[in-house]
Amino acid sequence: MFFRQPIRYEEPVYRPPSEWNSLLIQVTIGCSNNKCTYCDMYRSKTYRVRKIEEIKKDLQSCADQGMAPDKIFLCDGDALGAPMEILEETLDTINELFPDIRRIGVYATAENILEKSEDELKRLAAKKLTIAYLGLESGDDKVLHMIVKGNTAEDMLEASLKIKKCGFKLSTIAMLGVGGKKYTRQHINETAKILSATNPEFFSFLTTFSVPGTPYHTMLERGLIEPLTSKELLVEMHDILEQSTFDLNPVIFRANHVSNANPLGGTLPRDQKKIIETLKEWIDQTPEGVYPTPPHRM
Ligand code: SF4
Repeated sequence: MFFRQPIRYEEPVYRPPSEWNSLLIQVTIGCSNNKCTYCDMYRSKTYRVRKIEEIKKDLQSCADQGMAPDKIFLCDGDALGAPMEILEETLDTINELFPDIRRIGVYATAENILEKSEDELKRLAAKKLTIAYLGLESGDDKVLHMIVKGNTAEDMLEASLKIKKCGFKLSTIAMLGVGGKKYTRQHINETAKILSATNPEFFSFLTTFSVPGTPYHTMLERGLIEPLTSKELLVEMHDILEQSTFDLNPVIFRANHVSNANPLGGTLPRDQKKIIETLKEWIDQTPEGVYPTPPHRM
């Protein structure tokens, strides 16, 4: 069946890799933080919450086209930060128009989670908003401060436990190489601590690449951050996984984003030993002094 594109998106629009087959609905435009030094995703946008009438119109257009999505992802960068009235009315409309919807997802910052009460988060989860994607990036405060993440490691820990407790599944993303050579060891140690304490249901790594035009790129060019080689990036992944414990719940692990040189995955702790052994082999086979090729940007 052929569908006319029912929504005019305010580009650019991003979603997590695992939401590739979800209907994307923009609840907010841009990112309320928009300061992370490595990120250029929403620099062209001024943050705002969309009017509920616009959101409902998008949803109605999709329903009128006969769409029956299995999953919906709420965009843009941190739509969980939208006011409760907007989120609840959006979710109510989704549930009315698409009663068979299985899951609704959203990007969230630690701040978004902490500024909502447990009761509010539980109300959202009851309306099928049941997965939140959190960019932890690093568990180390020095690194988080350097990249202007806007939240501390303690915030990340508290927010992760809170959202899990309120009925969401948590998908956490950490960035390999984000602290450069200088902070690699503390990035490993502290990220492993947060992972062990939170055991997100889903966990993935992204490899940090500097994007021209970002403050991170300028810092690299000025020699203020020394990038990691391919071998050092693999050591970070290996050491974080080796130092982490996953005994609260099974964790589905993926490192297959376009920015990772080698795809890898499994369920932790079940596959932890095997993944660590594979990484050890890759480390041994990787020559010194080689840097990863940046992914092709569309
Ligand atoms: S919070 Fe996320 S979307 Fe916003 S600037 Fe940081 S990395 Fe980019």
